[in-house]
Amino acid sequence: MLADPAPLTLADRWRQRDLAVLWHPCTQMREHPDTLPLVPIARGEGPWLIDHDGRRYLDAVSSWWTNLFGHAEPRIGAAIAHQATQLEQVMLAGFSHEPAVALAERLLAIAPRQPGRDPLAKVFYADNGSAGVEVALKMAFHYFRNRGEMHRTRFVALENGYHGETLGALSVGDIPLYRRVYAPLLTEALFAPSPDAYLAEPGQSAAQRAHEAADRLADLFDRHPGEICAVILEPRLQCAGGMRMHDPVYLQRARALCDANGAFLIADEIATGFGRTGTLFACEQAGVMPDLLCLSKGLTGGFLPLAAVLTTQALYDAFLDDSRERAFLHSHSYTGNPLACAAALATLDIFATDDVIARNRSTAEVMRRLAAPFADHPHMADVRQAGMVVAFELARNGDRHTPFPAEARIGLRAYTAALKRGVVLRPLGNVLYWMPPYCVEDEHLDLLAQTTLAAIEDATACA
Ligand code: PMP
Repeated sequence: MLADPAPLTLADRWRQRDLAVLWHPCTQMREHPDTLPLVPIARGEGPWLIDHDGRRYLDAVSSWWTNLFGHAEPRIGAAIAHQATQLEQVMLAGFSHEPAVALAERLLAIAPRQPGRDPLAKVFYADNGSAGVEVALKMAFHYFRNRGEMHRTRFVALENGYHGETLGALSVGDIPLYRRVYAPLLTEALFAPSPDAYLAEPGQSAAQRAHEAADRLADLFDRHPGEICAVILEPRLQCAGGMRMHDPVYLQRARALCDANGAFLIADEIATGFGRTGTLFACEQAGVMPDLLCLSKGLTGGFLPLAAVLTTQALYDAFLDDSRERAFLHSHSYTGNPLACAAALATLDIFATDDVIARNRSTAEVMRRLAAPFADHPHMADVRQAGMVVAFELARNGDRHTPFPAEARIGLRAYTAALKRGVVLRPLGNVLYWMPPYCVEDEHLDLLAQTTLAAIEDATACA
């Protein structure tokens, strides 16, 4: 006689319902649920995600880099709840509301500045990071049209950069996995070498590597005189490109080259903004102010989708005219949604009241201490850190010239190994990283370090 099958757990039943109807992002759905676990989450609490069976998972990647202060942070939740009783949504064309205005005022007050430059002066909202990037690209392009510089049609982006998944954002992205299939649909950007310190030659410092990459950027400007509207980059840290880090001097050089060639500098701080790299904005580490600053993800503390593009008075002024076509007509229905703006205002309040950047400095020190011994692992090619982000780059025998092949599925193996132990690591290929919510305590980081080591052992055991 056959034994009765094991009863389905709540989580099992949830998975069945999910897979019957949902198509998940960034997922080969065929891998669910056998190769790739599917974890239904019932609630969040601080750095923890908790499933329907009560299992807890430490969210070491801040839910795709969105969460800042922990899940279900009560002050942000309360601000959204209050706003929902006042005004949930109104179109921002022809109408205005307190949260949108207050947030713009406060973002402009904290945005990066640079001596000798007029500060960022205007805010345009969108509703996710990719949409924010589209806004910045279109604004830069349209500015030159309005000025009659019709030949300025090209964007420069960095190799290994990432700016989102919509077609415009993909056009300035350089991660083949996301880009290749859609290549026939994309506009042709110019790609400059990444200043990535990991790519430095033996004996070359990160700053030397950055200068060398900046020299190549200068060559690109020379080869395309008067054609480039903007350079777009992720300052300090190429996140989706494997948490690759570069010396801030690159930003200074890029700023100077944009100025010398009459092009805009677009800083995509969608992932690096709001304290991730140790300062509120990564641009601060170079003392550089971009012409367009893209913000999203942590902007609402990780509660609601919202993006903001900050720009200068000079750029804005070029759109003022009697013609509607010269106006920036880009519009999303939910532009400046009051609930999302309220969440963002509560987020900025927390930065002010909790002295978040200072606390992060000591958390980052603990992360540094815990990460240091990993450098001795036989398969470790690099351990690097920028503030609240630590990355571990694995390569066979630690030799960066022999990365594990994609077929070894190091990332997937490390992911499942960590998940089994109650930690969400979501490696980027051969790169494992920590980007935890800022509320993590030492005990969480100890668990994270132990689990990371176990995940590396599992993933590399027979690779
Ligand atoms: N730019 C950067 C630097 C990002 O990391 C991301 C998201 N990972 C985006 C843009 C796109 O943001 P979203 O996923 O909200 O569209």
